[in-house]
Amino acid sequence: MGRDLPFSLLLFIVAACCAPGAAWSPIRIKYILSKDNLQIDQEQMLTLTKQLMPQAIGIWQDILRVDALRHPLFLPRTCRVSFVNDTTQCAISCHEALAPRYEKCGEAVISPMHHDELEVCKSATVVDGVTKWTGCKTLGRAEDGGVKQTDFLIYTQAIQTDDCAIPGRKNGALAWASTCHIDPQSERPISGFINICPSILPRYQEDGDLTEQLTTVVHEIGHALGFTSTLMALWRDESNKPRTKRDQCGIPPILKYTNFQVMLPGNETLHFPDPSNFKRALVVTPKVKQVAREFFACDTLTGVPLENQSPYPMWGAHWEERVLGTELMSGTLNSVVKGEPLSPLTLALFEDTGWYQANYDSEFVSRPSWGLAQGCLFLQSACITDGGPIAHPFCITSGQSGCSSDLRSVAECNLQRHTQRVPEQFRYFDDPYLGGEWSMADYCPFYGPQNRVLCSQTPDTDLDTLEMFGEEDVACFEVVGSLSTPERKLYQTSTTAGCFRYTCESDHAIVHLANGDQARCDQEYQTTTLSTVNASIKCPNLLVLCP
Ligand SMILES: [Zn+2]
Repeated sequence: MGRDLPFSLLLFIVAACCAPGAAWSPIRIKYILSKDNLQIDQEQMLTLTKQLMPQAIGIWQDILRVDALRHPLFLPRTCRVSFVNDTTQCAISCHEALAPRYEKCGEAVISPMHHDELEVCKSATVVDGVTKWTGCKTLGRAEDGGVKQTDFLIYTQAIQTDDCAIPGRKNGALAWASTCHIDPQSERPISGFINICPSILPRYQEDGDLTEQLTTVVHEIGHALGFTSTLMALWRDESNKPRTKRDQCGIPPILKYTNFQVMLPGNETLHFPDPSNFKRALVVTPKVKQVAREFFACDTLTGVPLENQSPYPMWGAHWEERVLGTELMSGTLNSVVKGEPLSPLTLALFEDTGWYQANYDSEFVSRPSWGLAQGCLFLQSACITDGGPIAHPFCITSGQSGCSSDLRSVAECNLQRHTQRVPEQFRYFDDPYLGGEWSMADYCPFYGPQNRVLCSQTPDTDLDTLEMFGEEDVACFEVVGSLSTPERKLYQTSTTAGCFRYTCESDHAIVHLANGDQARCDQEYQTTTLSTVNASIKCPNLLVLCP
């Protein structure tokens, strides 16, 4: 007789096969406001509908191409209780009495106009090992239903929950999202939801700065579109074949825990360095590998790590913060000056799902500063090795000023003494309580976003300094020695970094002090002496300074 299958398995029983003659075209994304789930006022609503959603959707539409749906989008219905015969036949049907009356995506109830058809039966019996259904009929699609001209639908809600960040409190989410439905044939995500915390949604201002909110919404839509742990076992290769082996019913291996289960991606998708630990995983698909080798300047790179600090005993749905701290799809918002870059690496991941082609030339794509051209050691070594940082922006002196990874601000080293011991594998100091502030960055201390001074903003001070501030051609540089004289001080109380004007030449950069003194930078980490003060400039990554 029948047995129940969890939701996640049901959708994959339809045989996966190839869409002949894929018609790649820019993805058409629509959003639906989840009307009963918007705890925002009219002004916030304007921000959401006039700015955030259209802008975020516009970015993904410019970046991703899909094999466009040739029909209106219908959402497959979930069969909550189903009859399945033995696994050699892989057929499935639903019990009519228990077929869902309504379904949700996030908190939104899906309109019956959008439901796909579903076969339901009154009963099932097994005769000689073969399941026979009786009293079957098809619950059809609504006439003139479906969502036209659409490849992906996002239900948009704004509910304040305990998970939401509130101003003044340190932790908390800004928004979250998930995939709801996948296409039965291609298995590409076709719907999802996003919850935007009302506490982060400002009131409408025509030219208000929404960098942080927009970055957040673009990140979350990225999850709903497929950057998620739970769908990696469904990725396909260039010839549309599943990258992970399926059983005879088309189902990938399932990893089972007491409270949840997840489809386990095969070793052509993820590599687990320790096969008994599913929290640590590297993405090893071809485009990700190729783009990452170029980005990190590491020809022997075998894969790119996913975030290992997830609340579940499994791989994360983000790039590892420790190696891609400022990338859009890392787990924490790190750089809000210009938003976090959506990088070619994330585009490569989307391409390796088999569901997308990506536009690497999009104006919304750029390389992150963190890790850029830092070589294989950056990936393989501990961030603090032999008592020193292996690369910028890691640091070892709590509170000391240095430069943020993007060189746009003078930032503080976030090394701190924790109240609990730092987990053993993330200890870099003799004192077991000492570590960087962020667990997601594997407790690596770095020049972080707190207490920083933006080089773009002229400080409100009459201090006579050697520094310069401004929007253009000004960046943070680290200083060895002292730039302070009785007459001149750095704006910072610390003397180890400051904002200076610079010019880019073909193969080097010149740093200009306000008194006319100059330093020349030919390569990263070079120190170059100044002539009017007893100090040197420590040169930054020229690929970041002069892209
Ligand atoms: Zn995320």
